[in-house]
Amino acid sequence: MAVALPSFLTAIMIMSRLMAFIGITRNNDMSSKLQALDIAPKLSYDPSAIESASQDFGHIVKAVPQAVLLPSSPWDIASLVNFSYSNSVPFSIAARGNSHSVNGQAMAKNGVVIDMTSMKNGNGTGIRIANYLYLTVGGTLSNAGISGQTFRYGPQISNVYEIDVITGTADFVTCSPNNNSDLFYAALGGLGQFGIITRARIPLEPAPKRVKWVRMLYTDFSDFTRDQELLISKNGRNDNKALNYLEGSLLLDQGSLDNWRSSFFPPQDQPKIISLITKFHIVYCLEIVKHYDGQTKTTVDKDLQQLLKGLSYLPGFMFEKDAKYEEFLNRVHSEELKLKAKGLWDVPHPWLNLFIPKSKISDFNDGVFKSIVLQRNITTGPVLVYPMNRKK
Ligand SMILES: Cc1cc2nc3c(=O)[nH]c(=O)nc-3n(C[C@H](O)[C@H](O)[C@H](O)COP(=O)(O)OP(=O)(O)OC[C@H]3O[C@@H](n4cnc5c(N)ncnc54)[C@H](O)[C@@H]3O)c2cc1C
Repeated sequence: MAVALPSFLTAIMIMSRLMAFIGITRNNDMSSKLQALDIAPKLSYDPSAIESASQDFGHIVKAVPQAVLLPSSPWDIASLVNFSYSNSVPFSIAARGNSHSVNGQAMAKNGVVIDMTSMKNGNGTGIRIANYLYLTVGGTLSNAGISGQTFRYGPQISNVYEIDVITGTADFVTCSPNNNSDLFYAALGGLGQFGIITRARIPLEPAPKRVKWVRMLYTDFSDFTRDQELLISKNGRNDNKALNYLEGSLLLDQGSLDNWRSSFFPPQDQPKIISLITKFHIVYCLEIVKHYDGQTKTTVDKDLQQLLKGLSYLPGFMFEKDAKYEEFLNRVHSEELKLKAKGLWDVPHPWLNLFIPKSKISDFNDGVFKSIVLQRNITTGPVLVYPMNRKK
């Protein structure tokens, strides 16, 4: 029987390596004016703070600020913004979460960077957020927040009740879909260009204790995308039987399986996975997660089998892991630690996010994945493929 699918989009994330730097200048006049402000004790000129605020995860752009503000309240931020606004020559201000941007978006050349993580003990938006736990609420709400749960809930910015924003004129504005909605929709996904988010009211749900975590391999791209679409069309619902997480990725023929996402696979199965990749050069990996706890422990395996029924992954290439929820949440960080130990984390990271309509995803596989990413060997970083519903 044919399944009627809603219209789909696929988000693709590609990370690679490249290097470039831009120049540096200093403004002593501004520094002395900053030192006269009431927030002066919270401004840091420490070389290590300046150096850290001059770069980001991308390591492509470098822009040196005059100072770094460590605010303990939104009023400290408003005081700085007000000073810049009323200055004869306003200077740049950038909010910085954990600086996981890739192209200098959280930098302020010759200006002041606001380290939002210094507000994490209050009601600030510098606190960490799930999926990759080292991103911040403010940083992801200023981008979009796409992950393996987007098929169910939409991006993070579609899940916000209300935010407080300090505008460029240093006004405090509370906004929501029904209240100052222009600013609400501009600040969400606004890369900090419409104001600084100092509070966000977002829905939360209880964390499960454990997860069933499954990866399945495909050599046929149509089977892979058809299964992704089938799974998200069946699992948009909010009940206990639905999938909790779905992601896709590419395994490329690069001589070994030693990349930052490979440790999931049991060591004894790695030779046969490497042979598969060597033979087909590109293998598609579908990853799903089902949460469970004490109450659902006895039914989770049956529910999982039900979800996997009818999928077309390669026989013998389905791998399952039972893990603590924290281990799943911290999976990127564990790989980060391994790369750091090899000196491979603090390298340039060009990063491309694209939304591809369902009608073009097959052309994209042939023209980009096979003919560019694989043939020209342009990345050793992850290439992720998230299916999502356009209506979310
Ligand atoms: C390993 C890794 C995994 C990732 N995984 C995902 C993922 O699964 N899904 C996803 O969507 N993204 C992911 N990202 C990308 C991430 O969302 C962006 O890099 C983003 O920049 C968030 O990082 P950050 O919190 O450190 O914010 P920063 O990089 O510090 O800031 C991001 C932008 O937001 C602005 N900003 C920060 N705080 C505020 C604030 N309070 N008010 C207004 N503007 C603010 C900054 O000025 C900047 O423009 C990942 C990044 C890395 C490095």
